[in-house]
Amino acid sequence: MFDHASFDAHEGVHLFHDAKSGLRAIIAIHSSALGPAAGGCRMWDYETGEDMLKDALRLSQGMSYKNAMADIPLGGGKAVIWGNAKTDKSPELFRAFGRAVDSLQGKYITAEDVGISVSDMQIVREETRYVAGLDEGEAASGDPSPVTAKGVYLGIRETAKRAFGTDDLNGRTIAVQGVGHVGGYTCDHLAEAGANLIITDIDQQALKDVSARTGARIVEPDDIYDAGADIFAPCALGAVVNEQTLDRFKVKAIAGAANNQLVMPEMGELLRRKGILYAPDYVINGGGIINVAAEISGTYSREWVDGKLETLMHTLGEVLDEALSTDKPTNRVADAIARRRIGR
Ligand code: NAD
Repeated sequence: MFDHASFDAHEGVHLFHDAKSGLRAIIAIHSSALGPAAGGCRMWDYETGEDMLKDALRLSQGMSYKNAMADIPLGGGKAVIWGNAKTDKSPELFRAFGRAVDSLQGKYITAEDVGISVSDMQIVREETRYVAGLDEGEAASGDPSPVTAKGVYLGIRETAKRAFGTDDLNGRTIAVQGVGHVGGYTCDHLAEAGANLIITDIDQQALKDVSARTGARIVEPDDIYDAGADIFAPCALGAVVNEQTLDRFKVKAIAGAANNQLVMPEMGELLRRKGILYAPDYVINGGGIINVAAEISGTYSREWVDGKLETLMHTLGEVLDEALSTDKPTNRVADAIARRRIGR
């Protein structure tokens, strides 16, 4: 563990096994310097235990950075369950997971991530109160996507302000990859602001719906990278900025919701050299965790969420300005600010 390439002074890495339900889970707590560690639970059919451990270590560190940049009183943690989310789920599995979370006595607060639904978390809730992202309950925050999308829209404007000298999106062309929950709501905001949209998805119905609402032009999934647009907004998958796509981008800025957009951190510098301004993913997409933080606080307040979102956009502006004035890649500047906040 201590020699692992992804180990970054994590406070605790907890392994859980439940023979009866078949649960194999890792809960990694990266830092609780700013509050109890919060981050979703991912269910994934990993090839090896080593892959699972690496994911837990990296994702929990990412949550520390995201929460620090969102200025919420939460540290960073993440849970991963080894299994196929389509075939391996059972109520017993999630009860066992709930007991695992509860055994950490509030040091880690869980929620949904890839492969996990609200109904799974309702079962977890039967065993522990350290769970958020629920539909029911006094402070329930529900679907975080609309808040994430609002943040992404405001973040695109912050980025446009630096890339084009104005945050007016009227007449700008924006290529949106993925029009699911976050991408769809983001398109609505962008269309309302007068942007021309080019969209893609593998879900034909989602494409039709968003195009009908916004007048967006639809392109094939692989054609989105070289679409003639001003801004590329990745709202589907991670690792879309990579060796294969880098030279295809014609845009001046990349700003979208997807997590882990850069296949590796070095891509940030390569984007900078190409004159593409990149809004670091874990800063621009922090709206969702702000919404969850409101639930964790015990009283959900929309004003608090909007206030935090405004502060987050201010932070994004600072990251972009510092990167531009020092000729540094935006992702490195964001990482340094996040580490400073956690260290403090
Ligand atoms: P979602 O599943 O609702 O939407 C993703 C969309 O991408 C789907 O419509 C899917 O069909 C499409 N897609 C999948 N593969 C594709 C491909 N190869 N090409 C084009 N489209 C493809 O998910 P979401 O909740 O909207 O999240 C989108 C991204 O934003 C994810 O990376 C997620 O991790 C990140 N994110 C989401 C939130 C949130 O609040 N939901 C918060 C922070 C970050």
